[in-house]
Amino acid sequence: MKAINETHDPALKSWIESAESRDSDFPLQNLPLAVFRRKGKVEAFRGGVGIGDQILDLGATANTGVLKGDAAIAAAACGASELNSFMAMGPKFWSALRLALSRALREGADAQAALSGCLVAQADSEYDVPARIGDFTDFYTSLFHATNIGAQFRPDNPLLPNYKWVPIGYHGRSSSIRVSGDTFPRPIGQLRAADVEQPQLGPCQRLDYELELGIFIGTGNERGQPIPIGEAESHVFGVCLLNDWSARDIQAWEYQPLGPFLSKNFASTLSPWIVTMEALAPYRVPFSRPAGDPSPLPYLDSAQMRESGAFDIHLEVSLETAHMRKHGRPAVRLSTTSYRHAYWTIGQMVTHHTVGGCNLRAGDLLGTGTLSGPSLDQAGALIELTTGGKRALSLPDGETRTYLEDGDAVIIRGRCEKQGAARIGFGECRGTVLPALPLWHP
Ligand code: CA
Repeated sequence: MKAINETHDPALKSWIESAESRDSDFPLQNLPLAVFRRKGKVEAFRGGVGIGDQILDLGATANTGVLKGDAAIAAAACGASELNSFMAMGPKFWSALRLALSRALREGADAQAALSGCLVAQADSEYDVPARIGDFTDFYTSLFHATNIGAQFRPDNPLLPNYKWVPIGYHGRSSSIRVSGDTFPRPIGQLRAADVEQPQLGPCQRLDYELELGIFIGTGNERGQPIPIGEAESHVFGVCLLNDWSARDIQAWEYQPLGPFLSKNFASTLSPWIVTMEALAPYRVPFSRPAGDPSPLPYLDSAQMRESGAFDIHLEVSLETAHMRKHGRPAVRLSTTSYRHAYWTIGQMVTHHTVGGCNLRAGDLLGTGTLSGPSLDQAGALIELTTGGKRALSLPDGETRTYLEDGDAVIIRGRCEKQGAARIGFGECRGTVLPALPLWHP
């Protein structure tokens, strides 16, 4: 599953013309999954695969009889309104479906006639969260993010001593996770000004985004049976874009001693598309640590992980203000970075999460934490880009931002490209901040 195979061949072409466009996120080598339905129709959400500007309806594909064996079983499971059953099937079925679809969607495939009727235009579709997310765990895997944030609170000692030993994380909230296109009211919570003793209830004044990747668990583990590092990735179904919105002022007051609560639980936004681990195989890179840093403890270390446990996924965040939208201006890019800079890998997150006996289940979501790169212009949150709100960003037409304002839309995109491999993308993850709801006064 980790190896490069015929499905990654950059020379492959599809009979779906839009998949051959140079800037398409979804060429034949990608085949990401989503849950979709046609807009404005009374019909159920179901699983589909992105190809060019189309979605191949997988339940309908199963009904054509074109797919055989494990691939047919897998496609039928994807006909459900959540991908959990397919995710739970494991790499053998994920891979069988990928190979069968790669062959059926290739130029000259016999299946073209049967599958043409299973296509729905992405432009005519809407999406749902692709799985029933039982549990959401948010990690903190960017050393650069941890250091930038730490420096604002503890200039002399930005990085706590556990950081290079423990993949830090906390248990989040799954009920408020939505899919791209999400809108939500500015959160309300307790705020306390620096020079005042009593906090007030009010709308967040320091609303931020967090550029993250979401990791969907495929096959889970039994409680009390940790997943060894050598098997960790085979439990991972795929990766999506994640914006884990954060209320920095609420967080500053509430986070001690147990960590964030209302500052993180009001909204998280996912891209609809999950790019599978197999699709990501060509873009693996070695996992290494700066010279002088401690090696991970043995349960978090392996030769395979050092050789190819990280991924070069280019990420970018853009901001579209209400003013830009009104005047037809394009969104402005705030930063770019790569997932290759993360300090802890996907495999390490899975193994550490389970080492104490915790069981993961199909559809569980792990967040990578804010993915900031080594330089400040590669930061994945406004709190870093604006140095805690002290340095406003200049936007076109004289607009400025320290934190997000009502009407702001944040757009995350991701892509992988490499010499000798196809360029694949993640689509987009867009969310828009609405005004706070009228305050409730007891
Ligand atoms: Ca987060």
